[in-house]
Amino acid sequence: MEILAAVTRPQAPFTIEPVEIGPLVAGECLVELEACGICHTDLTAASGALPTPQPIVLGHEGVGVIIKVGPEVNDFRVGDRVIMSFGACGHCSPCQQHTPSYCNQAGLMNFAGRRADGSSALQQQGQAIAGHFFSQSSFATHAVARTTNMVKIAEDLPAALMAPLGCGIMTGMSSVVNVLAVEPGSHIAIFGCGSVGLAAVIAARLQECGEIIAVDHNPQRVQLARDLGATVGIVAEQDDLKATVKAIGGLHAVFDCTSHPAVIEQAVGLLLARGKLLCAGLPSSKAPLPIDPLALVFKGLSIMGTVEGDADPKVFIPQMIDWYRQGQLPLHKLVTTYPFSDIERAVEDMKSGKTIKPVLLMK
Ligand SMILES: [Zn+2]
Ligand SMILES: [Zn+2]
Repeated sequence: MEILAAVTRPQAPFTIEPVEIGPLVAGECLVELEACGICHTDLTAASGALPTPQPIVLGHEGVGVIIKVGPEVNDFRVGDRVIMSFGACGHCSPCQQHTPSYCNQAGLMNFAGRRADGSSALQQQGQAIAGHFFSQSSFATHAVARTTNMVKIAEDLPAALMAPLGCGIMTGMSSVVNVLAVEPGSHIAIFGCGSVGLAAVIAARLQECGEIIAVDHNPQRVQLARDLGATVGIVAEQDDLKATVKAIGGLHAVFDCTSHPAVIEQAVGLLLARGKLLCAGLPSSKAPLPIDPLALVFKGLSIMGTVEGDADPKVFIPQMIDWYRQGQLPLHKLVTTYPFSDIERAVEDMKSGKTIKPVLLMK
């Protein structure tokens, strides 16, 4: 079957081209896309910084309808509407313990560009091209997903707003709710107000944090964080973060989306005893983190990292949809939609900071 997909080649823009999609194997479904969000991991993979082969079809925040089911698929049928999240094998120990982002086969399921047997569902003129990115490759009119990474959703939910629940929004919210597990009344600072950081702000407000400090270079993003529930907005290198934190008596938790060593060093210094720092960003270099070992021990700090906020999408996506339906998750304030054909403009707007969360519409 011929589909249209945005193909990524080294040092080249995304180009939408006809691609052949082959037969499904056990545990796979063919999904006709309605929408797909663009996440920073797509751009990192496109830049060549991840061990992902090219040419490849990226995209890992897809929403659509199942139009075909492969062998050994029991829980899904044709016509089901699904959000596609990250890939996981479904049967290793981390998967069994509901922490699929640490699946023993996470690299294979998300970044290898192929199935476990080495094959790819995608080809062009007889030549295989890489796919199966996050077990989906959703920058396309159709994607091959697995039963392990699909979550059913209702007909009435808007595709454009549901798409980022598959990765970015889930990461920010679950980091605060499940990993930091912030207490009501506790003080948190969130460094970096992109979609992940802003989702964390929304979650911190839902968890009834006391002070919620949002920090970013971009004043518009800091203002948006204020609109979403941050009690204090700090424009980096302009406002005095240290004095602000001192005035509230210190921080119980820090959520960092920047992966910037200087930011992390500063954040550690602002934590109260037994405070927690959680890092969620993809580092732009392998520079070690400058953490004072004396403060680490004497303050009893916890310094942690997370993939996808440790979420189990099958549990946490329905939870986020409940919040959305209750009016507590204003996704429309984060999402800007683009026709699929405008993928390059969407990427440019994301890079320039004009758009928080671009979502491509395939229909
Ligand atoms: Zn697994
Ligand atoms: Zn992502």
